[in-house]
Amino acid sequence: MTEKIEFIDLKAQYRELKTAIDARMARVLEHGQFIMGPEVRELENALEQRTGAAHCITVSSGTEALLIALMALGIKSGDEVITTPFTFVATAEVIALLGAVPVFVDVQTDTCNIDPAALEAAITPRTRAIIPVSLYGQPADMDEINAIATRRGNIAVIEDAAQSFGATYRGKQSTNLSAIGCTSFFPSKPLGCYGDGGAIFTSDPTLANAMREIRVHGQAKRYYHTRIGVGGRMDTLQCAVVLAKLERFDWEIQQRLAAGARYAALFDGCNATTLLAVRPDRTCVWGQYTVMVDNREKVLDALARGGIPTAVHYPVPLHRQPAYEGLCRVAGTLHNADLVASRVFSLPMHPYLEAATQEKIAAAVIAAA
Ligand SMILES: *Cc1c(COP(=O)(O)O)cnc(C)c1O
Repeated sequence: MTEKIEFIDLKAQYRELKTAIDARMARVLEHGQFIMGPEVRELENALEQRTGAAHCITVSSGTEALLIALMALGIKSGDEVITTPFTFVATAEVIALLGAVPVFVDVQTDTCNIDPAALEAAITPRTRAIIPVSLYGQPADMDEINAIATRRGNIAVIEDAAQSFGATYRGKQSTNLSAIGCTSFFPSKPLGCYGDGGAIFTSDPTLANAMREIRVHGQAKRYYHTRIGVGGRMDTLQCAVVLAKLERFDWEIQQRLAAGARYAALFDGCNATTLLAVRPDRTCVWGQYTVMVDNREKVLDALARGGIPTAVHYPVPLHRQPAYEGLCRVAGTLHNADLVASRVFSLPMHPYLEAATQEKIAAAVIAAA
């Protein structure tokens, strides 16, 4: 009897956490404060504790987190924001939505994260912010990036930690590595809810206050509007779900690290597959378990025939997307982004993945690659 292999197994997680999740949700249904109920602040407190950031502001999604962060910084038409072209579109979308110019800098081929060595040359007098993405769950080179931003003046660094919540970097938590950190609680992220959700982290009280106001239509108090805002609150019910999942999150992170190490051992010696390099001063929580091969289409076909689900994160870098080609600025060459986009694909990864399943998956990849 072969069981269906899940790319991400949210049902197994629910089975483990059912009592806590059901109880947490029932409490919200009974108190009835569905918008900005007590679980919102409770979750923000818990996440401040966990990350070490002084302020956590929950919001309606990871995309909204990035948008609100840029709005709080006053990013506007004509400004430039530097980021990576090899990311989920939301990272650049929020820049363009504010009329600013996404400036794309190349990535490292071994981590797929933005290359600090290529960053400095992209800075101009219009540069207002840098958004490094901690792709696949591994923090970007945040200290090097912060140092460049500080040296070059008034440039804010926003970590897009949508895939890396729970990862560490030089002993600190992802989301608390720069002026602002943004994460997502989309169901498939390392810490997910049962719908859309996200959070912003900062230790700057002025920015925190601005982001709290922007989250609720730019109001300092009800119906008194100090600035342009959005409807960006996270539902109380979704906060309750994340609170319940936090009980098991440390264990889940350990499972993710163990599953990543197991894949690495299984692929050891297979020259046809290139694994992501994880730097020794940080952990990768494997928001996606992504590997690289030269003959991707053939491998994906073989895996599909073998009943192994895969995904490609991401097939087309953003500087080649019709929506961005005309409005972005390409700084230097983006050869590495093009190269990794043609080679990457992601394998099943979640805390409930069994060793035997990983063995079967790795054997199928090695046979096809
Ligand atoms: C998922 C993701 C986002 C957006 O998060 P949502 O909650 O889906 O809006 C932003 N950036 C990256 C890198 C992501 O993976």
